[in-house]
Amino acid sequence: MCEQCGKGVETETRMLFKCDKLKDTRKPYLKQIESKFPETKTMNDCAHIKFLLQHDQIKEFAKWLEDMFEHRKRLLYKKV
Ligand SMILES: [Zn+2]
Repeated sequence: MCEQCGKGVETETRMLFKCDKLKDTRKPYLKQIESKFPETKTMNDCAHIKFLLQHDQIKEFAKWLEDMFEHRKRLLYKKV
């Protein structure tokens, strides 16, 4: 189970794309990506990640990953 929202199994892809608790950190990033690359809207999560890594988005992607893990960490600490 996902520790954050209690739904599904927590995997990295799930955390990045699906977890409800992290949507505030995800939304602005995905919006920005979607406005640059509208085709990402219809991609599945794995294709999406591959796409980001192949299109000079690696810096943005890395930054986003960092933000997501930060956000997740904050949520974990809050629960303790
Ligand atoms: Zn979750």
